Amino acid sequence: MKPDLFEAPDYYNIDDLLSEEHKLIRDAARAWVKRDVSPIIEEAAQNAEFPKSIIPGLAEIGAFGPYIPEEYGGAGLDQISYGLIMQEIERGDSGVRSTASVQSSLVMYPIWKYGNEAQRNKYLPKLASGEWMGSFGLTEPDHGSNPGGMVTNFKDMGDHYLLNGAKLWISNSPFCDVAVVWAKNEEGRIHGLVVERGMEGFSTPETHNKWSLRASATGELIFQDVKIPKENLLPNKSGLGAPLGCLDSARYGIAWGAIGAAMDCYDTALRYAKERIQFGKPIGAFQLQQKKLAEMITEITKAQLLVLRLGQLKNEGKATTAQISMAKRNNVDMALKIAREARQILGAMGITGEYSIMRHMMNLESVITYEGTHDIHLLITGMDITGLNAFK
Ligand SMILES: Cc1cc2nc3c(=O)[nH]c(=O)nc-3n(C[C@H](O)[C@H](O)[C@H](O)COP(=O)(O)OP(=O)(O)OC[C@H]3O[C@@H](n4cnc5c(N)ncnc54)[C@H](O)[C@@H]3O)c2cc1C
Repeated sequence: MKPDLFEAPDYYNIDDLLSEEHKLIRDAARAWVKRDVSPIIEEAAQNAEFPKSIIPGLAEIGAFGPYIPEEYGGAGLDQISYGLIMQEIERGDSGVRSTASVQSSLVMYPIWKYGNEAQRNKYLPKLASGEWMGSFGLTEPDHGSNPGGMVTNFKDMGDHYLLNGAKLWISNSPFCDVAVVWAKNEEGRIHGLVVERGMEGFSTPETHNKWSLRASATGELIFQDVKIPKENLLPNKSGLGAPLGCLDSARYGIAWGAIGAAMDCYDTALRYAKERIQFGKPIGAFQLQQKKLAEMITEITKAQLLVLRLGQLKNEGKATTAQISMAKRNNVDMALKIAREARQILGAMGITGEYSIMRHMMNLESVITYEGTHDIHLLITGMDITGLNAFK
């Protein structure tokens, strides 16, 4: 892969709206990605391997639990800092950002918000340091967009619960130490349970042959009569709203993250367009290529402003599920379109691993599907503005 020459676009001087702390945190994450992620990520993706060597670095830049209070090992940062960290990581690779998102918003968040003090103290510091890695089991083979239909279930056996079922498409599953798993009790109510590696009957086979998010490990979570200690049930929230609350937090991070992937594609394409000579001049001098680049920077700028405002709302505790959903849908769609256009600007070189664009493009095909598909997010906005439910 070519050296990482990334220069972040900031067409509307959005940096002026960030605090000094935001910029320090963002710049530290940016420098780490350049130093520790860019040199190894192409090979990791080609080999379909999650590069575990970067786990301590992710912890160091605050990517595991950026907004979790420091008393639990988190970084105690605000929501804009969280977003900026996700943006920088996804600038490197969406798969790496996925690992960080799952750890923070889908594992640490529910333990922090829905767990008790003993659970917080047991799990959060180890997850924040990366000593333990987590996964989040909601999707099932027959229940993706409709997780409320899940069949994974647990029975009260007196001194423990007995968990049965299977989860599919689970990020981090093959190497996770703990999994936050959503399952129905005998009354059909959804609860979160913390399942630990080593529990009898719990297995995590890897899903192979992905063309997307190749540097992120994906797999199954299989439960065959797994005995779960009663203290592993998250006591403070139940029902479908509990996992959906985690998704709000993760989708917010994705809305920022996708901008990182888009910025990397744009920056690469801009540099290439100024250097690549055809018909005696740089291809960037042709109007058709300028149109592509001009539209890219316009869409990136709009997306940056969208998440900044969303971050302010989130800091004030006012961001709604529908607002977060809109930003996830818009920004991932924007990034995927930019990746496709940027790849064309690079011509044949665009399909090689010499440049990051094709990897971003393939990664974003997963990002537009997970945490609610593009169409499901349209329906969330549709329902929010009409008051009419088009899901069923
Ligand atoms: C790489 C990767 C990592 C993932 N990681 C995780 C993870 O860590 N944990 C986890 O729990 N899940 C994870 N997922 C699963 C992901 O969240 C689901 O794939 C997603 O929710 C969609 O579910 P599905 O694939 O079953 O598609 P389906 O729900 O079967 O949808 C198929 C198509 O039908 C459309 N559709 C469905 N319902 C409607 C409707 N009512 N109206 C209109 N159109 C509809 C969808 O938009 C989609 O286009 C991951 C997925 C991928 C690809």
